[in-house]
Formats: sequence, C-alpha cells, structure tokens
Amino acid sequence: MTVKRNLYPKGTPGDPLKSNSKTGVSPEIDLRSEFDDLVFGGPTSIAHGRLLVLRRMRRGSDNKPLPCVCRDSITDEPDTEDSCPYCLGEGYYWDEEEITGRSMYLGADGGNANRLRDVMPGSVRADMRVFFFRYDTVISYRDKIVDLKLDPEGDAVVPYIRESIYKPQTIMRYRSDNGRSEYIAVYCKEDDAIRVDE
Ligand SMILES: [Zn+2]
Repeated sequence: MTVKRNLYPKGTPGDPLKSNSKTGVSPEIDLRSEFDDLVFGGPTSIAHGRLLVLRRMRRGSDNKPLPCVCRDSITDEPDTEDSCPYCLGEGYYWDEEEITGRSMYLGADGGNANRLRDVMPGSVRADMRVFFFRYDTVISYRDKIVDLKLDPEGDAVVPYIRESIYKPQTIMRYRSDNGRSEYIAVYCKEDDAIRVDE
C-alpha cells in the first residue's frame, strides 16, 4: 500500500500541513525516498553516498555457496589468505559488484578516541562499522563488504585497490510503513575487518 506524502511533509512555518484525515496526505516522511535523496542525490540533497564493493558468494542450484577448487580434499580448508587466485582465501567462488551506500563508525563507549582507555574487567569494547544500503539490496551473511581505496574526491583509485573487507555481523532491514522495507543497515565488527595488504 502506497502512502501519499508531501515533499515537505510538515509544511512550512507559514503554511503548516493539516492533519492526514483532512488532507489525505501523510505528515510523515517517506524514508525510502529520503534515503534515495540523501545517498544518490535528489530534489532536496546532493549525493552523499560513497562507492563500495559487494562481494557476493556465487551459489549453486541448491542455493549453497560454491566451494572453491583450492579447498583441501582432507581438511576442507581453503588456501590461505590471498594465495588462491580464484577466491583470495574465501574458500568459495564469488562475484564483486559496485554499490553505493553510506557508512559510519559506532563506538561502544564514545567512539574511536576512547580506544586506548582501559576497559573495566568483564567489559568488551566492540567498535562497529555500519553500512546503509537501499531497501532492495540483496545481501546475505555469507557476503562481504569491501572498502575500495578512494581519492579525496570520492572516486576509486585506478587500478582498484581493496582496503578493508567486512563480514556482516547483523543485517537489519529497517521497516516502517505497514512493514515496508525502507533501508538496510549492515553492522560489522571493526576488529574483525580484514586489512588487505597493498
Ligand atoms: Zn580458492
């Protein structure tokens, strides 16, 4: 079900929007279109997204990831990091595609500046990186998010250089209007990120 809305949902100070029942227009924002405006650019915003890469595991007809040929026949362990030219150590075949999203760091207790402070016994410091993607992005827990090296203007450095590889820890599909999916947030543990040697 589509909800009718205004571009400026609350109206303007001189002309505030009347209630939904009087106008048939919802006074709430449309998170899907707000996301598109913010990340890809639109009538109210320039594009604030950045270039990322989604490494998607290739799947067979049974929807299981396809194991790479480098897996050991006895231990089933893949070839170690970067030495297998097909999977770069993932153990499965994959494809990479460019994707635009937003990302931010979430500190457990005040952010990265507090990293050097001693942690109380029994506490765990868990800095997270959160990636925000469009509602129709297909991503699973097997997939990885790759940080490309970008120049100061936000364009990828050519030839492409992979900087960090993140494994999704929690994929949250944020829902709002009648349960409609509005955007996707992927929470990744900063400590677990693989830093790729150049
Ligand atoms: Zn391999």
